[in-house]
Amino acid sequence: MGRIPQSFIDELLNRIDIVDVIDARVPLKKAGSNYKACCPFHTEKTPSFTVSQPKQFYHCFGCGAHGTAISFLMEYDRLDFVDAIEDLAQQAGLEVEREQGSSQPQQREDNLYDIMQQAADFYKQQLRSHPQAQQAVDYLKQRGMSGEIAAEFGVGYAPPGWDNLIKALGKDEAARKQLARAGMAIEHDNKGPYDRFRERIMIPITDRRGRIIAFGGRILSSEDEHGPKYLNSPETPIFHKGRELYGLYEARKAIRNPQKLLVVEGYMDVLALAQFDIRYAVATLGTATTKEHLETLFRVVPRIIFCFDGDRAGREAAWRALENALPVMHEGREAAFLFLPDGEDPDSLVRQEGREAFEQRVDQAMPLSRFLLDQLSQQVDLDSIDGRARLVELSRPMLNRVPDKVFRHMMYTQLERTVGMKTGQLQQLVEQDGTAQTIPTPNRRPAKPGKNSPIRQAINLIVQKPALAANIAEAAFLQDLDLPGAKLLHELLEIVRNDPQINTAALLERWRDKPEQVHLMKLAENQLPGDDQGLEEELQDIILYLQRQLKMQRWHFLQEKLTFSGLDEEELIEWNQLLNENNAPQDK
Ligand SMILES: [Zn+2]
Repeated sequence: MGRIPQSFIDELLNRIDIVDVIDARVPLKKAGSNYKACCPFHTEKTPSFTVSQPKQFYHCFGCGAHGTAISFLMEYDRLDFVDAIEDLAQQAGLEVEREQGSSQPQQREDNLYDIMQQAADFYKQQLRSHPQAQQAVDYLKQRGMSGEIAAEFGVGYAPPGWDNLIKALGKDEAARKQLARAGMAIEHDNKGPYDRFRERIMIPITDRRGRIIAFGGRILSSEDEHGPKYLNSPETPIFHKGRELYGLYEARKAIRNPQKLLVVEGYMDVLALAQFDIRYAVATLGTATTKEHLETLFRVVPRIIFCFDGDRAGREAAWRALENALPVMHEGREAAFLFLPDGEDPDSLVRQEGREAFEQRVDQAMPLSRFLLDQLSQQVDLDSIDGRARLVELSRPMLNRVPDKVFRHMMYTQLERTVGMKTGQLQQLVEQDGTAQTIPTPNRRPAKPGKNSPIRQAINLIVQKPALAANIAEAAFLQDLDLPGAKLLHELLEIVRNDPQINTAALLERWRDKPEQVHLMKLAENQLPGDDQGLEEELQDIILYLQRQLKMQRWHFLQEKLTFSGLDEEELIEWNQLLNENNAPQDK
């Protein structure tokens, strides 16, 4: 689908009011120039969740949650970016715009969804009517799959042969090309395309909206001859392994408001659990759990349980999952690890001990913090002082990956208990020695120009009151200035110059998913002292100061060149001019 143009996001954020959007979900009270409520993202008794109408921005002093109306919907309603935009647009009575240039690809991708649906229908039909389908039916029966579950998950059958699907759906050249683009046919130099999936149980993989985007195929005959046991669709324009989770759409359909999701290894596990009415299992598709997967899952539920084999490979995979989970852990989110007895998978285990016993295991899964400390403790001798010090050493980089203050604090408390330190002692030690630089502490960061660089202060001013920059002349020179943040400042100035009405939220949205956004959001939380006129002058002064800085940089460069290799005539004139013009020499 075409990108949503920035101009549309600007207009949308101009049209809606974040106060209405939040108030409809979390009733707000007016407090001074802001609105307040008890934070919906952490538990508290006195309100520290603040919404600024002029900035169109919210911020919680308690847990650090912050963002625009779009971010709020993503977090609170657990929507992805596009869905949040669509929601807001609907409220504002706007039709979501898509970029023109990409209407062509959108058309083609719509066709890919179509052809995948047709393929799914074909495979289902084959399971019912193909003369050799009995083998597949027997296999499904032997796995204990009922007709209901098979129908609900759209299970089908790809019969033996090289061109069943191509014959059925590849009516013309264009259709055959689509089959190849969708990953269903493999192009073959001179013999024409052939079916990717042959003699397999076919499981359609859906995206979060229930559209079929890929297939998984389970082999029926012997492995060596017919390829791998499980074969998945390749990456295509509509299928990205690292992003999709098998069973998520089905789980959300089956449970109205799920509170937990169980991450298992494969789609057959999801189906087996569904057979026992355990409807909250999802599977990654032949990849490890990525950060993207986790963000998706945490948007739907507060609790994720990873299911792994109890053996060494399982523990290692669990450790990788833990490493990916740390950066997305926030207060209110929970991750746990369920290790299965040796040689068992969810399928065999649930069949052996039944639903209740299995769910008991799920409920008793090991919390992330305990798994982390357990694993690290095994590498040290906890009875010795050295060993305990080493444990602190090992866990420090892991804990510092946790962005959320409250959650990190909780982890520290557990670590302190493990090594027998007083509560707070360890965290203090770690944060004292500079490692804490990675830990944002918004409350202790007043935007004093003395403490911060002028560029940072300029960015701070613009982010909070974009209108302050409306009268600044073009400052293209910033692109040449060799100072951190100069390019970002230039970008901000340009945006406001082209759109003097832009608000903080719309400005921040331009950096969504970019590394600068974290810093910009933090700056947006600050309060600006002083009146607008004073602030505008401050911004003007900084720009003039930076202009002098650039001249200084240039003068130093010429001065150095003069010393080492000499200057040509033109450069000499420039050097002289700069010398007269600014105070560069004093600064030497
Ligand atoms: Zn909060």
